Amino acid sequence: MMLRGKVALVTGSTSGIGLGVARALAAEGADIMLNGLGEIDQIEKLREGLSKEFSVKVEYDGADLSKPEQVAALVAKTRNVLGSLDILVNNAGIQYVAPIEEFPDERWDAILALNLSAVFHAMKAAIPGMKSKKWGRIINIASAHGLVASPYKVAYVAAKHGVVGATKVAALELANDGVTVNAICPGWVLTALVQRQLDDRVDEASSTLEIETEKLLREKQPMLKFTSPESVGSMTVFLCSEAAETITGSAISIDGGWLAQ
Ligand code: NAD
Repeated sequence: MMLRGKVALVTGSTSGIGLGVARALAAEGADIMLNGLGEIDQIEKLREGLSKEFSVKVEYDGADLSKPEQVAALVAKTRNVLGSLDILVNNAGIQYVAPIEEFPDERWDAILALNLSAVFHAMKAAIPGMKSKKWGRIINIASAHGLVASPYKVAYVAAKHGVVGATKVAALELANDGVTVNAICPGWVLTALVQRQLDDRVDEASSTLEIETEKLLREKQPMLKFTSPESVGSMTVFLCSEAAETITGSAISIDGGWLAQ
């Protein structure tokens, strides 16, 4: 119960990695502000279930984080409803895959708005409160694609490199304010975001899910295994611990060896 009394906002936590992170923080006693898209009845079940399972307060707000004013409002609401904002996990993200010359302008704009600009707007809104409490943790879920590129993912790779850069700047600015800022860079995690890419590959190659899954992993990762949302959650909890108080400005890979090559 290391995080009892702390409040965490996890963006994009209605599914996938964000949900894994929210569960891990709640398991340590943190009150949670959930955010993300989805069916309202299902989200309410999720909210209630999480609150009961871990005996913590859990709230939800459906802010569209591609809109800067909604990012700032979500941070303000977290403080108003849960009394503080100690841990900010910028996780919400989307993907689109196409060669640059065919990449739709509106997909570029949408990916940059959510995957990069929302991280800036959330940090900007969260930092003053963390500084005044002399304690804060900002964890930005970047990607292996924040450190290396792959073809056909121009907006995603540009945004995630930007997240790693913004993480370093924030870490420098907050180095002596009790606030650490780090990025987690996962390799492949089997979530809706990756399932859509797998389904497209199965269609394009008239192949099977099993074959395309192995090919997808083998192209990038020496370890032919998905990272779990729970592992990303555990790393987030570690970064909130006292043992991690001097880890700041780091981009931490959890990627089955992707970056070792
Ligand atoms: P996911 O699709 O399961 O989850 C994305 C979350 O973001 C969902 O809760 C969704 O509702 C939310 N979201 C989407 N648009 C939003 C918007 N406009 N406003 C607010 N919330 C919005 O995907 P995931 O794989 O869990 O991805 C989470 C993060 O992890 C992303 O930033 C992604 O880039 C990153 N990541 C994923 C992988 C992977 O292999 N899955 C690897 C590295 C990094």
